[in-house]
Amino acid sequence: SPIPDFLDATLERHRYDLSGATADYIPDLAAADPTKLAICISTLDGVEYDSGDADFEFSIQSMSKPFIYGIALEALGLPAVLDKVGVEPTGEAFNELSLDKTSGKPLNPMINAGALTVHSLLGGEGATLAERTEIVRAGLSRFAGRQLRVDEHIAAGELQEAYRNIAIANMLRSYGVITDDPDEVVRGYINQCSVLVSVKDLAIMAATLAGGGTNPLTGERVLSPRVNRQVLGVMMTCGMYDAAGDWMTEVGVPAKSGVSGGLFGVLPGQLGMATFSPRLDKHGTSVRGAKIFRSLSADLGLHIMNAP
Ligand code: GLN
Repeated sequence: SPIPDFLDATLERHRYDLSGATADYIPDLAAADPTKLAICISTLDGVEYDSGDADFEFSIQSMSKPFIYGIALEALGLPAVLDKVGVEPTGEAFNELSLDKTSGKPLNPMINAGALTVHSLLGGEGATLAERTEIVRAGLSRFAGRQLRVDEHIAAGELQEAYRNIAIANMLRSYGVITDDPDEVVRGYINQCSVLVSVKDLAIMAATLAGGGTNPLTGERVLSPRVNRQVLGVMMTCGMYDAAGDWMTEVGVPAKSGVSGGLFGVLPGQLGMATFSPRLDKHGTSVRGAKIFRSLSADLGLHIMNAP
């Protein structure tokens, strides 16, 4: 049938691009098989079309950030979260030691400074590491429509080398943005990044956002329409970090990348899509994933700013 054939052909077009490199600061990612390549697209009723290694599982990494932002917004309300983390793009790398000078808070929830702060809000004051990890695991599972799990091995490896995130968390603690033990927040955030997903999961998670917050497989309302819109707005402006402007003008699909090589995009009211390929560009975005998104956007006219 035409859609799977089209996806097969799209993957083949980009399969032999070997540029980029796997993430070097997380041991299990450095050792990842770079030949893996996958795509999945989900419609708003949860019908999935895939090609390549679509059942292969990898860690969600920064792709967890928009979903956990949504979960925190639902639990604490918009004002309480906005009081701690802004919504302005930084134009900087995801792991910058970044804090808005005037407001004294992280600029947005897609960079690590913002994501660590959002993570620290889960479960309310005094929540334990185990409690926060379970809120994350259960929350991401509601988006995926199946029970996901944390890969302890990936998490342990990232923690060994987590100097940058520990520095960011200590910066946040010293400015009073987070009030908990910074090491505990980093551990919890790393567990969050180590939840395993496939492109099939990510496409359903993306389709949940595309459908306004209702999971197409389970029918469960995971986010209210207002929170869902907030998440997509932040993804659109900040999801691709210092490449956000290039991405928005060229591809035009709100998206989020992760250093495992996963990438997902949301076309509101239409579809969720996800790709996987481990080699990354200098922004920490999958090289082949970004190229596949570019070609699909052009071939299918997906850019949300296309005038009708
Ligand atoms: N766990 C990674 C980190 O904090 C996630 C980064 C990413 O995927 N961009 O560095």
